[in-house]
Amino acid sequence: MEIEARLADVTQRIAEVAEKAGRRPGSVNLVAVSKTFDADAIQPVIDCGQRIFGENRVQEAQGKWPALKEKTPDIELHLIGPLQSNKAADAVALFDVIQSIDREKIARALADECHKQGKALRFYVQVNTGLEPQKAGLDPRETAAFVTLCRDELKLNIEGLMCIPPAEEYPGPHFALLAKLAKECGLEKLSMGMSGDFETAIEFGATSVRVGSAIFGTR
Ligand SMILES: *Cc1c(COP(=O)(O)O)cnc(C)c1O
Repeated sequence: MEIEARLADVTQRIAEVAEKAGRRPGSVNLVAVSKTFDADAIQPVIDCGQRIFGENRVQEAQGKWPALKEKTPDIELHLIGPLQSNKAADAVALFDVIQSIDREKIARALADECHKQGKALRFYVQVNTGLEPQKAGLDPRETAAFVTLCRDELKLNIEGLMCIPPAEEYPGPHFALLAKLAKECGLEKLSMGMSGDFETAIEFGATSVRVGSAIFGTR
């Protein structure tokens, strides 16, 4: 299948599951995850009308997105990978949404940079629902207090929560936990679900699914 056909297939599957789950059409956004793919692979997806993209490394994104964004200014670029505070300035300059806030140091660095650059980004707090030691994200038990710090003290526009469930488990309970935590924090957006499990994520209330290989091919 060509990249255009795979994008159409994913878009259609999202619409079908959303409808079956009784969700409003258009209530689930597709973040097309273009990490490891170059501008020549990404442009056809933009040409199909896709506007929301995700990257997991600041430096890699800097190499391809300024030019792509210049051509298509209404692109919305999401950072979905771990962020070091020494990259906060670059991240704030390039991205529209940062989904991977998971500690105070990075939250403070981002707040400072938004202020310095006069930019208002949108943010998600990443939660380590499986408490996996090698994975980024907050302990679920610390999420509510952390969201309060980000919102009330640092004045960050926190839209929602994001998670990456353990690869080897059925993801349903992780998606359910993220939805419960978001509700407790008064947050409406849930970024969850990847190529292998985005349909399940939508059933559990995902408002954004992050799909890479099902669109761009294997990495
Ligand atoms: C790579 C990545 C994805 C997309 O994964 P696929 O399985 O290729 O769809 C989603 N979320 C994050 C955080 C990623 O790093």
